[in-house]
Amino acid sequence: MKPIQMVDLQGQYEAIKDEIDAGIAQVIRSAKFINGPEVGLFEKELADYLGVKHVIGCANGTDALQVALMALDLPKDAEIIVPSFNYVAAAEVVALLGYKLVFADVHPRYFTIDPEDVRKRISSKTRAIIVVHLFGQSAPMEELIRLAEEHQLFIIEDNAQSIGAEYIFHDGTRKKLNTIGHIGTTSFFPSKNLGCYGDGGAIMTDDDTLAAVMRSIASHGQSKKYHYQRIGINSRLDTIQAAILRPKLRRLDEYIRRRQEAAAFYDNQLKELDWLVTPACAPYTTHVYHQYTVQVKTGSRDRLAAHLAEQHIPTMIYYPSALHQCAAYQAWGSSLKVSEELARSVISLPMHTELTSEQLNYICQALKSFIS
Ligand SMILES: *Cc1c(COP(=O)(O)O)cnc(C)c1O
Repeated sequence: MKPIQMVDLQGQYEAIKDEIDAGIAQVIRSAKFINGPEVGLFEKELADYLGVKHVIGCANGTDALQVALMALDLPKDAEIIVPSFNYVAAAEVVALLGYKLVFADVHPRYFTIDPEDVRKRISSKTRAIIVVHLFGQSAPMEELIRLAEEHQLFIIEDNAQSIGAEYIFHDGTRKKLNTIGHIGTTSFFPSKNLGCYGDGGAIMTDDDTLAAVMRSIASHGQSKKYHYQRIGINSRLDTIQAAILRPKLRRLDEYIRRRQEAAAFYDNQLKELDWLVTPACAPYTTHVYHQYTVQVKTGSRDRLAAHLAEQHIPTMIYYPSALHQCAAYQAWGSSLKVSEELARSVISLPMHTELTSEQLNYICQALKSFIS
């Protein structure tokens, strides 16, 4: 059996090597390394895939959030709500831009931001919510949109982890994540569901004005070359990365299907374990399983990680602390019970597009042999 990895990027590359190599060679031959034609082509193809008017490539998913927030041009004393059980990017960007960070708690089974808790934290200064579609599924968008409309807030969707997943509205219609809020952002970090071979990111919107402002901000605030309309940053999607992303985007739905199959295998095998809680998919969303994250309710999470490591099964803790518990963010802290409990109990199992049933079976047997 092939060694088990959290993410198998080599295996995925081997299967599409010819196309990827040809794409990279083409960029090198053309020598159009910055803003080459592949960038525009990829932006257009991703816009079509998502069903959104504008996609703007940028250097990484954190920059995407920064450009989005800069484009909203909020008052200096604005408060912005972000989930505390999350990767650091959204909180970091809010703090860097000098806005007041307000952490909200998350749902105990879905891990996404809890609208009831958000409601309690809205003040007269709240201007935006950064909604994070964590681990592969959507946050409860209709409830959040209702809140946003009531209080005139912007919604930014940080969709670094759930590209391709769909929100299912009450009336049964579906929309891809990234196209529901005012602005969507994503990351093409190699291990993401749509990953490149370095850093990359993108910003999406249906709003023509916001799109033009964001394109300008990502390019030094230029309106045209050497005409600086506003203060911007330098954040570009590399041409070679765009050439790698194009064939991977064509396979994204296939990659999602394979992740869903691996998740179904885990679900089926692990449901009998009474000490372990398998991940729940909310009724209003599809799940693309960026992570397969289980909860160990018996306090033996770290012992389980060691037990699996002994059998050469890697695991990761996403995330070992809620952000408000981290030194850098304690100043904005409050008590967020669910986030704190999840940081103590979650563990993510290997999840990627190349897992074999032999590997999955081996992992499940190892879990079943654990005495909690
Ligand atoms: C990975 C990630 C980001 C940022 O991505 P980078 O490309 O590494 O900057 C932002 N938000 C979430 C939720 C992420 O998982």
